[in-house]
Amino acid sequence: MPRVNAWLAESGGHWLLVDSGKPGTTAALFSGIASAGCRPRDISLLVISHAHYDHVGGAGRLKRESGVPIAIHRSEADLLRTGGFEISDGLNGLGRFRAFLGRHIAPRSMFAFEPAEPDVIIDDERRIDDFGFTATLIHSPGHSRGSVSLLTDDGCLFPGDLAITQPLPGVWSHMPIYGSSAQDIKRSWRALLDMGAKHVYPSHGRDFKAKELEDLLERYA
Ligand SMILES: [Zn+2]
Ligand SMILES: [Zn+2]
Repeated sequence: MPRVNAWLAESGGHWLLVDSGKPGTTAALFSGIASAGCRPRDISLLVISHAHYDHVGGAGRLKRESGVPIAIHRSEADLLRTGGFEISDGLNGLGRFRAFLGRHIAPRSMFAFEPAEPDVIIDDERRIDDFGFTATLIHSPGHSRGSVSLLTDDGCLFPGDLAITQPLPGVWSHMPIYGSSAQDIKRSWRALLDMGAKHVYPSHGRDFKAKELEDLLERYA
């Protein structure tokens, strides 16, 4: 099982959370929020990068207990509303094998999460100044059809699973193993770099300089 990040950011007394972990890890999510000196009700927005189960685990509880508003792309809003299961296609042999396991072998209970009603529906782009952050939510498909990236005006990029640093043997660096195509992912990388991404905080693995994506785009061309 991959480890997954949930990023908590603070700006001028406003708190923002990107993703909410796997189902069954919500207690750890809440203690992480508390250890940052934040109360769940202080979170002005939860951004769901995409509705894969490992990113939506705590969303239902945060909304139900603390009324935290949730942002998600229009094409994945129903998955969040219904606790729906979706897994992207594999981009390579390992991805195809794991997608098969997820769809046909693994017990469905493994992917179950508490549903939540979204509040902010994203289409192409959406500024979030009204939630206290000088930042934009950007539709950046490639890993899933409704993947959303958060880009702050000073260049911090939270791309969800669109770019990750949790290398597995034989897997392309920074490229997820699931998605519609490597071309779609590279197109989204290019767009986010052109919009000013400088430092990347992925939902799996360590953070890294956006320049690494620039170099990989040349290598993967
Ligand atoms: Zn994913
Ligand atoms: Zn993931």
